[in-house]
Amino acid sequence: MNDCLFCRISAKKNPADIIYEDSDAVAFIDINPQAPVHVLIIPKKHISTALEITPEDNALVGHLFQVAVKIAAEKGIDKQGFRLVINTNSAAGQTVFHIHLHLLGGRQMHWPPG
Ligand code: AMP
Ligand code: ZN
Repeated sequence: MNDCLFCRISAKKNPADIIYEDSDAVAFIDINPQAPVHVLIIPKKHISTALEITPEDNALVGHLFQVAVKIAAEKGIDKQGFRLVINTNSAAGQTVFHIHLHLLGGRQMHWPPG
């Protein structure tokens, strides 16, 4: 999708600080980080929200989590802990409608979240 920001980043049509890529997924540094480590992990396939995930996407979504954990380990935040978030639709604060897993860490997280 040419008008989707994260499709454009995955196609290298828009710049981003990409730290990981494979045939199905891309990970890049969030432009407005909310923690010392704030990485977005996205599928190359355009899926707008978690509501559009189908059974065919099960392996792909599992893969996103595995990529996130691998990056957490590389960043050295796996043992201390980290947070994985998928905001879904407006009440959750979703602003980019191409699913993305937020990997947040490197500081103490609070609960409940804002
Ligand atoms: P969400 O609010 O869950 O939809 O998250 C969207 C995230 O994308 C926010 O944390 C933004 O800071 C981030 N973001 C928006 N544009 C860019 C960009 N061009 N490069 C990297 N991150 C971005
Ligand atoms: Zn997209």
